[in-house]
Order: sequence, then structure tokens, then C-alpha cells
Amino acid sequence: MNPTPVPRALIIGAGIAGMQAALDIANAGYETVLVERLPSIGGRMAQLSETFPTLDCSQCILTPRTVEVGHHDNIRLLTYSEVESITGEPGHFQVRIRRHAAYVDWDKCTGCGLCQEKCPKKVPAEFQRGIGPRKAIYTLSPQAVPNKPVIDREACIFFRRGKCRACEKFCPVGAIDFKQEDSFVETEVGAVILATGYNLYGLENMPEYGSGAVPDVIDALAFERLLSASGPTAGKVLRPSDRREPREIVFVQCAGSRAPGRYMPHCSKVCCMYSAKQAILYRHRVHDGQSYIFYIDIRSPGKRYDEFIQRAMEEEGVVYLRGKVSKIYRQDDRVVVMGADTLSGEQVRIAADLVVVAPALIPRPETRRLAEMLGVEIDEVGWLTPANEDLHPVETNRSGIFLAGTGMGPMDIPETVAHASAAAAKVLELFAQQVRRI
Ligand SMILES: Cc1cc2nc3c(=O)[nH]c(=O)nc-3n(C[C@H](O)[C@H](O)[C@H](O)COP(=O)(O)OP(=O)(O)OC[C@H]3O[C@@H](n4cnc5c(N)ncnc54)[C@H](O)[C@@H]3O)c2cc1C
Repeated sequence: MNPTPVPRALIIGAGIAGMQAALDIANAGYETVLVERLPSIGGRMAQLSETFPTLDCSQCILTPRTVEVGHHDNIRLLTYSEVESITGEPGHFQVRIRRHAAYVDWDKCTGCGLCQEKCPKKVPAEFQRGIGPRKAIYTLSPQAVPNKPVIDREACIFFRRGKCRACEKFCPVGAIDFKQEDSFVETEVGAVILATGYNLYGLENMPEYGSGAVPDVIDALAFERLLSASGPTAGKVLRPSDRREPREIVFVQCAGSRAPGRYMPHCSKVCCMYSAKQAILYRHRVHDGQSYIFYIDIRSPGKRYDEFIQRAMEEEGVVYLRGKVSKIYRQDDRVVVMGADTLSGEQVRIAADLVVVAPALIPRPETRRLAEMLGVEIDEVGWLTPANEDLHPVETNRSGIFLAGTGMGPMDIPETVAHASAAAAKVLELFAQQVRRI
């Protein structure tokens, strides 16, 4: 076996972690193959409205990065793609990547959007957390990189009933290709970074919060979409059930987190901060609105984070209630939240217009398959686990394979970016050894 590693990196997942690692490696002059399962890049950060504690517009700080990744000479971006197999040895991994059929020839497509406009079929948009529709031919968002649509076979009228072809009729450059098939890319890389990110624990698993079946009880990412200018309500806070502006909102932290035996054992780390952010942003949209936050204790150890929580409490009128919510149910057109205020010792009952639940961050299910394929350790929850949490936080038990971002466990954007740059530095260290040998 040639000891000189192939100076090309594979990064799996193009959220902020994968993009940062790709840019660091590519800017150092090495080729990077960046594989993303979804049609476009940006991950969860693309779904956020503003970011704590600065309240920067998330899309505005993300877009320069997505554009740079999309145009970088050293980055081969493969979206709507998944790694089928990785074999070989450290320094020489053989990778097979499946490119899902988009049924659109992306080389011809100009991203004009006419196909989406003319498509008659609407389905709930996953990117909008089901609040608001997308078409059967769609891009994730107006800022999508690449700005190329895909056809959802399950929703498309032509694929289901053999009739329609509206997108094909109206496409001015003939880019629609219903006969397109999955294709494969094979490559050899010297190092791999896993940057597969997180999911939210489903409300349907938590009966005390209404099992996801109570109207106007939504999760925190759905609320991010309601706050976003590019969201289904163009940034207006409106209840999903009747599009009425909510006068009272209850935020419920630690839903499914820190509950060993019943739900997830870990603290999800970002919920205290983003719940405060969301309550502040709600107040900025609805000046006379009232928000309540149920919490177990406040965890805000980042720089200027504690001040941000104080701001929510003292300047933005958010009422903090220390205690767990025991039940959420619908009564007439309101959502009743029952809980305990452990500071006053009182039972609390709030009839709210909207309830925003902060569910546990959990690993994505596909990460387990990748970990097994690569022989990388995962913990009892399914988080990717470094070889040594103290001194080797981004290195795995397998040489040449590194970790970045929230696939390892909950973290905020600054920590994610720092981990991603650390993983990139480890890859560059490996590639630099090769340069020295030459
Ligand atoms: C409601 C909410 C609000 C938040 N607000 C803030 C905030 O204001 N400030 C802040 O600092 N943090 C905030 N966060 C945390 C922030 O979302 C994360 O820190 C950040 O998005 C993590 O990025 P990531 O790249 O690690 O993961 P992700 O954004 O999850 O990206 C992972 C990417 O990998 C892709 N992927 C997964 N598996 C595969 C596979 N097998 N093959 C190919 N691709 C794959 C996914 O499709 C995704 O694009 C918030 C979190 C939530 C839930």
C-alpha cells in the first residue's frame, strides 16, 4: 500500500459544518468532494430566521458561504447525492456516490423558476416544517445553492398518473427529463469528514405535548420558519390553524431532553438560547404580545449569552416560569398549557394562542449506517463519537476519518464552525505530511 495519502477530501453533509470544512481545505489548495443528501446546501442554518445573540439574519450571513462553496474551483459539490460505499484504507478510501435523479438536466437548467410556477401539484414543504406548500417540482428555498429544481416522484402528477408534463411544456430550455436515472460517481480520497448534523425529536413521540396532533402546537424549527422573511408567512407570526396573529405564546424547553429512561438523556444545549431569541423576535413582530418560557434551568454559558437571557427577561417582557409542562391540550380555539412553577410552588395554567416546543436534538438516522460502514464509534444515543473527547475531539478511532458539527452532539453555530475548522486542520495535517515526503 502506498503510504502517501491521496490529497483529496470527502465531506459528507453540507450544513454549516461541512461547508466550513470544505472551504478551509479547498482554500488551502486541496480538492474536496462535498456530498449533500438534499437538493441544496446550508443545512439547518438555512432554516433559521436570526441567530443568537447578535440577531444577525441567518440567511444573510449564510448566503456568501453557500455561494462561495457553489463556485469554488477546488470543491466538487454533489447535491441530491448519497455515499453508497466507502472501502479501502486510511489515505486511500474508494468512494461510490449515488446521484439521485432530479428529472431535470441541471446543465441545461437556468434556474428561472417557471417550472415551479406552472406545476399544478402542491404538497407540504419539508423545508417549511409542513407550514406552507411547495410544488412537486421544487427547490428548497429561493436562495438555494445550487438553484436547480428536482421533481418529487411521489407527488408528481405525471409520474403518478401519466398525464400533466406542465413543467416540460413551459421549460424554455428543454431541461425536464422524465427518463433520467440515478447515476454514480466513483472517486478516491485520502480523508473523510462526517458532518451529518441533527434532527429534532418528533412531537408525535411525546403524548404530554399532544403527540403532534394538537393544532397550533409546533416545534421550534417551524417557528423559525414563521419568523423568516423567506418563510410561509413572509416573516409574520401567524397561527398555522387560522392565520391569526397570536397574542400569547408559550415556549416549552427541554421537551424530550434531559429525560433519561423516558426520552433523551442529554441536554440539547441550544434551546435555552434559541427560545429566548424566539421570544424576543416574537415581541419585535407583535409589540403587545406576551410570551412565557417554561424551563428547568437556564444554560447559557457562551460569550454574551447570559446577557441575552437577561435582556429577554428584563427588557423584552418575557415571563420565565421555572418548571416542567405536564400537559398541553386544545380548548375551543386556544391551547391550554398545564405546568408547575417550582419557584412559587403554584400550579400554572395558561390558555395560549400558540405553543412552541423545543424538542431534543437527536442524531440523523442515516448517520448510524455511515458509522457502521466506516467502523466509526457512535454512543448510546447515536451521536458520532471521537476517539478521545478531551484531547482529540474531532478525530475518530479510525485514522483519516474526522468529525465536524452536530453529528457529534448538540452545539451552536460558532462551536460547529470551530469544530469544522479543527477537522479541516487535521485533514490538512495529513495532506501536508505527503507534501513533506515528496
Ligand atoms: C430551532 C433552532 C434554532 C437555532 N438557532 C440557533 C441560533 O440562533 N444560533 C446558533 O448558533 N445556533 C442555533 N441553532 C443550532 C444550529 O442549527 C446548529 O448549530 C447548526 O445548524 C449545525 O450545523 P451542522 O452543519 O452541524 O448540521 P446541519 O445543519 O444539520 O447540516 C447537516 C447536513 O448534512 C446533510 N446530511 C445528513 N446526513 C447525510 C448523508 N448521509 N449524506 C449526505 N448529506 C447528509 C443534511 O441534509 C444537512 O444538510 C438552532 C437550532 C434549532 C433547532
